Amino acid sequence: MTDVTDATVNPLARQIVKQLVPYASARSSMSGGAVWLNANENALAPAYQLDDTFNRYPSCQPKAVIDGYAAYAGVTPEQVLVSRGADEGIELLIRSFCEPKQDSITLCPPTYGMYAISAESHHTAVQKVLLLNTEQLDLPGIFATNPKLVFICSPNNPTGDLIPREQIIAVLEHFKDTALVVVDEAYIEFAPEASVVPLLPRYPNLVILRTLSKAFGLAGLRCGFTLAAPDIIRALKKMIAPYPIAEPVAQIAAQALSAAGITQMQQSVGIINQLRRDFVQFAQQQAGVTKVWPSNANYVLLQVSDAAACVNALMAEGILIRNQSSQLGLANVVRVSIGNPDEMQRLQQAMFNYFSANKRETA
Ligand code: PMP
Repeated sequence: MTDVTDATVNPLARQIVKQLVPYASARSSMSGGAVWLNANENALAPAYQLDDTFNRYPSCQPKAVIDGYAAYAGVTPEQVLVSRGADEGIELLIRSFCEPKQDSITLCPPTYGMYAISAESHHTAVQKVLLLNTEQLDLPGIFATNPKLVFICSPNNPTGDLIPREQIIAVLEHFKDTALVVVDEAYIEFAPEASVVPLLPRYPNLVILRTLSKAFGLAGLRCGFTLAAPDIIRALKKMIAPYPIAEPVAQIAAQALSAAGITQMQQSVGIINQLRRDFVQFAQQQAGVTKVWPSNANYVLLQVSDAAACVNALMAEGILIRNQSSQLGLANVVRVSIGNPDEMQRLQQAMFNYFSANKRETA
């Protein structure tokens, strides 16, 4: 949020709407190019079948999708909410648990931007406790806050780190009676052993966010999940729109969650994890790359000497990557999503050319 009022929106809009800086999504802030490596999507996308009539309203919580996701995640259907992407899950949690102008959320930058934007648009204060060395939670810092919700992203976007399980448990214990701890597992399929789903029976204040946008290759579908104790799910169901999941979305999600769909997803994860390891090795050999973050997801964070120049040089070759320099603690850092083998080859050639030319200029 800014102190500046946006004169381009209708004057009758709420003051907070006039001041809000909306999320700059990869799709809205960059366009063109043939190789899209700026939104952590899965380039290895499968194809799906649809019915051809849609005259009936859909179910609010389609049973095949709920049952499919519960079986996949190893929870009961009563512990699952399906929503329009994990982003809607974030918004529903804030709208259901944070009293406007009274409650706050705690988050740990650098991290995913929508927690703060959803909170601000709901008059909910945001307490920021920076990650230590961009990878560990600052537990004393978090314990000094008094939130209703704590957001922990693991693997974290954009750093790719897994937050240590003992630290997540410490936060769950500390806020046992006062706050929900929301662990965003949007990228967990790339490191499934790190999931905190096994902690759900022990911690009634644990909430887990999931999505079909990443490993399942369905970012265009807009389908995400919230996993939590049934009383939390019941609260969210009171706030969700009557028809949040369009019928074509429900049909495709059910196919993605079939045994064949899950096998296909796991195969693509295997390919992407290998492509990521190859890319990390390549990046570590480039003199122009000063730091490569270890990643457990389908993207890699790199520190370079001039992030804007690097992003522009690749854009000139039709390759989109994401500048992360505006994030706290990430000056001159870019994020590269892992694409298909052909895209990775084009990316590495273009990066090699850019860093070689740069070396000559600075030599
Ligand atoms: N959490 C994280 C960490 C993300 O990176 C994203 C998407 N970029 C989301 C949640 C939102 O996912 P969805 O597409 O399901 O809304």
